[in-house]
This record gives sequence, C-alpha cells and structure tokens, in this order.
Amino acid sequence: MRARRQLVAGNWKMNTNLKSATELAAGLAEKLKQDLPGTEVAICPPAPYLAAVSAAIAGSVVKLGGQDCSFEEPGAFTGEVAPEMLLDFSCRYVILGHSERRQYHAETDAVVNKKVHMALKKGLHVILCVGEKLEEMEAGATETVLDRQMTGSLASVTPEDLAKIVVAYEPVWAIGTGKTATPAQAEKSHVFLRQWIANRYNPQIAETLRILYGGSVKAANALELLQMPNIDGALVGNASLKVDQFWPIIEAGNTVGSN
Ligand code: PEP
Repeated sequence: MRARRQLVAGNWKMNTNLKSATELAAGLAEKLKQDLPGTEVAICPPAPYLAAVSAAIAGSVVKLGGQDCSFEEPGAFTGEVAPEMLLDFSCRYVILGHSERRQYHAETDAVVNKKVHMALKKGLHVILCVGEKLEEMEAGATETVLDRQMTGSLASVTPEDLAKIVVAYEPVWAIGTGKTATPAQAEKSHVFLRQWIANRYNPQIAETLRILYGGSVKAANALELLQMPNIDGALVGNASLKVDQFWPIIEAGNTVGSN
C-alpha cells in the first residue's frame, strides 16, 4: 500500500441540471457501495444541487465537496455560500483557489488565504488549487508561481491545519484544453510542492500531504499520471461528468493506491 491514500475528486463546475446531477451521483453511488482500499472518491456539484446529490449518494462511500465558499461569516453577502451551508449537506471538502475563480472572479492569493482560514475554522477540508499559466510555463516561471501561490494561500496556516488540506497542482494551460502535463512534467511540480512543504513546515508533514494532479485527466492518461510517486490522485473536470468516463480514473487511483 502507498503511504498516502489516493483521492479522485470530480469538479462538476457549472455543469449538470437537477436531473442529470442526481443521475450522475446515483450512478456513482451504485458503484461505490463499499470503500475502495486504494482511493477515496469525492464529487463537487454546483451548490444548488447539493441537497439532491447528497441524498443520491447516501449509503455510499462517495464524499461530497463544494466548489468554493465565502471567507465571511453568514450575513449580508448576496450570492455567497458559507462553509456552514456546505457542512449542512455533509460536505467534507471545499475546492478553493481554482484557476477559474482566480481568472473570472479576480481571486488573489490573499482572498484564497482568507477562504482557507474560514473553511478550516468551520471544519471543512480544503482542496487548494495552484498552477501556472501557459506563458508562465513557457517563461520557465512555474516554480516561482507555485512558490508565490503557496506562500500567499497558506499564510498563517498551522501544521495541524495543514493536515486538513489537499493541494491540487493544476497547470492552467492543461485545464479543459485536452493538453495534459506529461507524467514527468507533473511529477516535477509535485516534487517541488512537496519540498516546499518540507522546507516551510517539516518533512513528516510533507510526506503525509496529498498532492493531486488536475488538467485534462481522462481514462486514457490517468494511470500513467497517478503512477508517479508524488501524484496522490486527481482533480477531474470534464471526465467527471459521465460515470463511464470517471470510473476508469477511480479504478486507476485504486490500482495505484493499493500497490
Ligand atoms: C479542473 O477544472 O479542475 C479540471 C482539471 O478540469 P479538466 O479535467 O476538464 O481539465
């Protein structure tokens, strides 16, 4: 068994409707009545469907997550979702700092950091996304960007709290583009991130922290990516929207995690 259990998480983004979300969740729950030894599985549906999805996965081992949350206490913040609201539907995870939030909602590392603190304070586990843009990768600035995002997003996060964080390395140029980082390219960034944690926190924490890869993961490339020693699972967008496309990725995680 690998030291770190894999996590395969589906980010449904602003996709599905009530019917398709419920069917997708139920289809997955049907296949996941029992724990898989090598991998944990989570799905992050749009917030309005949390109730239906939560009911559809009841009795299965599928875990639930939100796609974002507010850094404010509940109150007059139109359109926002508080961590408490995610917890009401038994969410375990919340995705924070996704590149689409950074790009379309101008989320800075400072904002992400405030969200991380609020989510942790309320008892959620965080899937923290980091990753460089195409031009940054081409300029050889990947590690500079990762360093800046990690420093900003994790400011004042204690070693105890870090245990409730999963990092997702998602090169922006690979998200929804069909372009995937090669396993070696992804592994290089994962090693950098793990070393970053070892330096800023300590080597023991770095060894237990899960670092997921995200960016056009699909059935055809999941196994070769997840087999890399520092890749501990996948954050999956497009391919998480159909059970028959998501399932082989889960199986890849289970195979790797069980060895
Ligand atoms: C994502 O948005 O987290 C993602 C990885 O998307 P996709 O798998 O579609 O590239």
